[in-house]
Amino acid sequence: MKIQKIAIFSFVAAIMILISFVSFQTIIEESNFETEVESNSHQKENMISIFHEKEEIITTFQQVDNLSKLTSDGVVTFDTEDYVVGKQSLKITTDGNGNPEIFRLTNISPPIDFTEKFLKAWGKISYRNAVEMLRINISSDNFENYKTYWIHQRPSSPTAKSFQTNVWNPITISNTQTTDKGITDISKINSIEIVAKDRGNRPFTFWLNSLSLLENNDKAIVSFTFDDAVGTQFTNAVPILAEYNYSATTYIPTGWVGKSNRLSIDQLKVMQDKYGWDISSHTVNHVDVSKINNEKRLEGELVNSKQFLLNNGFEKGSEHFAYPFGSFNSELSIDLIKKHYKTARIVRGDIETLPVADPYRIRVIYVLSITPPDLVLDRIDRAIDNGDWAILVFHGIVDNNAYDIQGTYLKSNFQVIVDGINKKGVDVMTVSEVYNNFFEKKI
Ligand SMILES: [Zn+2]
Repeated sequence: MKIQKIAIFSFVAAIMILISFVSFQTIIEESNFETEVESNSHQKENMISIFHEKEEIITTFQQVDNLSKLTSDGVVTFDTEDYVVGKQSLKITTDGNGNPEIFRLTNISPPIDFTEKFLKAWGKISYRNAVEMLRINISSDNFENYKTYWIHQRPSSPTAKSFQTNVWNPITISNTQTTDKGITDISKINSIEIVAKDRGNRPFTFWLNSLSLLENNDKAIVSFTFDDAVGTQFTNAVPILAEYNYSATTYIPTGWVGKSNRLSIDQLKVMQDKYGWDISSHTVNHVDVSKINNEKRLEGELVNSKQFLLNNGFEKGSEHFAYPFGSFNSELSIDLIKKHYKTARIVRGDIETLPVADPYRIRVIYVLSITPPDLVLDRIDRAIDNGDWAILVFHGIVDNNAYDIQGTYLKSNFQVIVDGINKKGVDVMTVSEVYNNFFEKKI
């Protein structure tokens, strides 16, 4: 399936490429409703920065003479038609029998120091729902001890964001999202193992074009975000956050403003002007942008929402967007969102790295009614350990009866989270503040 045209301009340390995206259809990450779609003629070119300035490249799989296959299952080749950097990518195809297929890069010399760094990879998979597990192990002693970076694990990997079906995308994996077998000397890594396993009912193909490292950020950042303009954000969340001078980001469907139980213009003005909140976009009518094929209608949802923010003096958060339903996988919507916004937030994926893997798929810790405050605080501890960005997503904050799964969180539990974050002394910033401080300078 040939899906791209590439032009590469090399600079000293940064490579910009043109890549075209195929049309594809998916719902939310980890959803079971994903369907396989063949690429079609609708191709568009997007400019993507493959590597950041400070990125340390481990391999782009161009000249690989130290790759070995440890299992009889599976096929590994190099794909000279489909790649995002160099002239080829590594291509691994499973057998469809549910056995793990293992490939190793050995004798890496000089050894690589993974200390205080996180892993980044460019890849894609032919069909996400066929994948049981994808992981990368690193070792300094021939895999007597090793560290595992989890890319994908069914039924749903809470700690990683996987590659997408049929579209090249970068992922980053923080040390928060690793597990250890024994004690690995990560300062002297000389072998890397790739393990791919299908679900036993059909094969899948996995393309990998690069492995690289980025330095951990000096300190962690926490962002509180809220969706859907629920009125209790003003009555309950604002005062609790204000106890510690914390500001947050609220993503509003602008067409819902002033409706029953939703935030009013006056409340939003107080939130921004008095409490420093970002007022950001969540479309006009809370539409699933991945399902709208009418470009005019889709662009209207994006442009009119932003225009509403600007017309009402909400410049601070106006460049930032959250996908309703977390549905991000459509070529048309991502293209248009890139045209009008600087970031877009999803509803899955756990902790985000700084720099982020993809500003248009920013990962979060999604807080459900049933999520205990301790679990959230534990994630934040892990973010602190690795200088990660922990973005929390809430909807309404209710006095009692937080019964529905998605929409509400108990005020007393919210207070525990906010108090706990304050005790840890971690920095709290809005999304626009993180963008202004970390994206433009460092990415
Ligand atoms: Zn929403």
